Amino acid sequence: MKSLVSVRKYREYELAGLKDIVNACMDDIGGLSSMINRSDKVLLKPNLLRSSSPGQAIITHPTFVEAVAELLVDYGAQLSLGDSPPLGNLSRVLSKSGYDNFMKRLNVKPCPFIRKRSLDCQENRLFRRLELAEEVFEFDKVINLPKIKTHCQMGLTLAIKNLFGTVIGTDKASWHLRAGKNIDSFATLLVQIYEQISPAVSIVDGVLGMEGNGPNSGKPRLIGIVAAGQDAVALDSVIAYLLGFPINLVKTCAVGSELGLGVADPAGTTIVGDELKGFPLADFERPKSMTMSWNLSYWNPLRRFLENHIITKPSIDASICRNCGVCMNHCPPGAIKNDNGVMKIDRRICISCFCCHELCVNDAVVIVEPYLGKLMSKISR
Ligand code: SF4
Ligand code: SF4
Repeated sequence: MKSLVSVRKYREYELAGLKDIVNACMDDIGGLSSMINRSDKVLLKPNLLRSSSPGQAIITHPTFVEAVAELLVDYGAQLSLGDSPPLGNLSRVLSKSGYDNFMKRLNVKPCPFIRKRSLDCQENRLFRRLELAEEVFEFDKVINLPKIKTHCQMGLTLAIKNLFGTVIGTDKASWHLRAGKNIDSFATLLVQIYEQISPAVSIVDGVLGMEGNGPNSGKPRLIGIVAAGQDAVALDSVIAYLLGFPINLVKTCAVGSELGLGVADPAGTTIVGDELKGFPLADFERPKSMTMSWNLSYWNPLRRFLENHIITKPSIDASICRNCGVCMNHCPPGAIKNDNGVMKIDRRICISCFCCHELCVNDAVVIVEPYLGKLMSKISR
């Protein structure tokens, strides 16, 4: 059976208009009543990477979440909203990012992720056990509310990647480490998390997205879409297609399809909603750092060649760095050291997860793209 994805055009954060658009998206894919029962306890899971103003496009826009919340309250659902931001606690991120007022108005309860639940996975899965936030499993339904953003490690962060926020705080670093340098392993981890959470629906804030070196310090970009679907593999694949992203660069889609969790081919998906004139975008800027995986020892000359001439890497700009230590404290393998007041990355240990780039609020972690790599990515486009 084909998966169903709704995509509708909308170019501003105007509450009443957004509510109508989200409602239309829901109707396109079968209606709210096919996914949620009235009086269900529902958890909203937006992207709350860190405290930021909505115009920076780092978080799911508060007016977008408000529109979804109003729709669900009208429907009769009881709402909570949760995430585990890697930087700062949930209540601080909510109040600094413009969520407080509408949550109070609509009686949406904040749900910080604190307790862990250990979950057994299917025998044929790469990760046999996961540890996710216990709180997520105390709701009747989860509604996933991602933001369209580029992501230095994974290409894009969309519906599947957004659920990595159900891993509690600093545990994220240890899961990065367990997945290692192999990008397919990390994609598998993300897909297995999606499998466990199994959201009732994902509704994507693609009005103002982020291009370039996301997810923290890319450039806001008006994309002008709202998209929704129950199959997050199909939904992510359709969005990647609309952004002009080759689907093979979005590993979570390929892995999701391999594991039988969805359709990774937009051609195999029924896309409903508005006519998508102007898409796929011809000029959407990809992150410089699309990582490549390899299993070569640090001493292998081929690895040295790849690192020096082709593969993008993070580097700390000492003239911008404020020595706050956040990157050092969150680097999964401990590759960042304070060398007499200068933060340095040890390439022998670095697993190219780009967490340092994602977490530095001062934009001091830059993506270095060697000349040959730049040339190769130009040719491959
Ligand atoms: S997080 Fe940024 S500012 Fe802080 S130490 Fe690292 S590079 Fe420097
Ligand atoms: S230095 Fe940055 S990219 Fe390398 S492992 Fe540490 S956090 Fe990840």
